[in-house]
Amino acid sequence: MKHIVVLGGGFAGINLVNGLIKEFGHSIGKDVKITLVDKNSFHFRKVLLFKMIIEDANLKVPLTRYCTNGVEYLKGEVTSFHHSKKTIMLKMENEQNNTLQYDYLVVALGSVVQEVSSKLGGITLSSIKAALDIRQKLQSLILQAKAEENKEVRKGLLCVAIVGGGITGIETAAELTAWFKKEVQESGLHSNEVEVILFDSKEHLLRGVPVKVSEKLVKELNRLGITIRAKMKVKQFEDGQILCADGTTYKAGECIWTPGVKVNPFIQTLQFPLTKEHQILVTDTYSIQGYPDIFAIGDCARIIDRKTNQVDGMTCKEAIPQAARLSKILKNEVYGNSHTITHKAFPIKLYCISLGPDNGFVWAQKWGLDFTISGKMGARIREKTWDQASLLV
Ligand SMILES: Cc1cc2nc3c(=O)[nH]c(=O)nc-3n(C[C@H](O)[C@H](O)[C@H](O)COP(=O)(O)OP(=O)(O)OC[C@H]3O[C@@H](n4cnc5c(N)ncnc54)[C@H](O)[C@@H]3O)c2cc1C
Repeated sequence: MKHIVVLGGGFAGINLVNGLIKEFGHSIGKDVKITLVDKNSFHFRKVLLFKMIIEDANLKVPLTRYCTNGVEYLKGEVTSFHHSKKTIMLKMENEQNNTLQYDYLVVALGSVVQEVSSKLGGITLSSIKAALDIRQKLQSLILQAKAEENKEVRKGLLCVAIVGGGITGIETAAELTAWFKKEVQESGLHSNEVEVILFDSKEHLLRGVPVKVSEKLVKELNRLGITIRAKMKVKQFEDGQILCADGTTYKAGECIWTPGVKVNPFIQTLQFPLTKEHQILVTDTYSIQGYPDIFAIGDCARIIDRKTNQVDGMTCKEAIPQAARLSKILKNEVYGNSHTITHKAFPIKLYCISLGPDNGFVWAQKWGLDFTISGKMGARIREKTWDQASLLV
């Protein structure tokens, strides 16, 4: 019996396990053993982290939910691997070390949020704790504003800066604006004293989106009460002031950084071939260059469509089809079948963005044509993509 070990129960890992269950069906436990390993006992829905600023959302799904049909789940932190012995070393909950033997290993150890140095001030939206800190800070700003007689000072306190105009920054700005206005109003102050400014260093919001689509999105954000400052690099938040690289300053009560993700630093401790951004170099069948029985998918891997030279981004939308394809490749590997399955880039350009309660923005581009959906329908599509990514529908 062959043993497939999947490292990481993020979006790539759980979708791979799901694909393997579909591919192997009743052969699991007979022809093949499948084990999912993660340092946590849950799959973390990090794409919804911004929700935690405004409510106690449950973003943790037990990994046992995905380990059905005889798939095993093991809670342990991967510390190293031994290629010639085909083993990985795990630190278990009780601090004991454990060794696990594999025939095929899949590395899906993902990414972490790039933490902005505390010297720059503000809070990076990097974890549940950070989201709760932001909530607490905003609530204390309301209390300070209530006690403040001076209108200008009050306005400064009720101004929130968000730095980073990617999906996380946009979704955080939209959700936070609606919630903060409501909280301010409930405290007896006027919600129109609230200002949310979204700073982005690039010319227009969102990578790869045509200017006219980006402008449409900006209009939607303005309508929600969000000011966009494009081409503006924030350097620091200090003493209630946002300082930009060009010398411009803005008064603000808090600064939230949403700088994007970087490859899990643990990847650098393994001996795999890496890009300069520390992503693992894989072939177009997801096996690691020089290691035919070890595969890598998701944010930790550099994955290219050889026909178009298009590089996959670090997103769920790309990790999920990689996982589905790899489950088919592994089935062929286990049974010794030759195959022609290779990586292909996601066939359309697509962004699904939540714009706060009951509002969303979807953009898709196919055959050079742009399609956008906004409002309630956009919100419904967005919710579906979240649930699908975590296999909750
Ligand atoms: C705040 C935020 C918002 C995002 N929003 C979007 C979005 O709207 N749309 C989108 O498409 N993408 C979004 N992304 C990106 C998306 O989350 C990633 O592309 C996706 O998580 C990649 O999945 P993955 O399985 O490769 O890695 P991850 O989801 O990072 O999973 C890695 C797993 O490995 C485990 N692990 C790590 N190290 C070890 C170890 N040593 N031992 C054992 N287990 C370990 C972790 O516990 C984790 O479960 C967002 C990311 C963040 C941080």
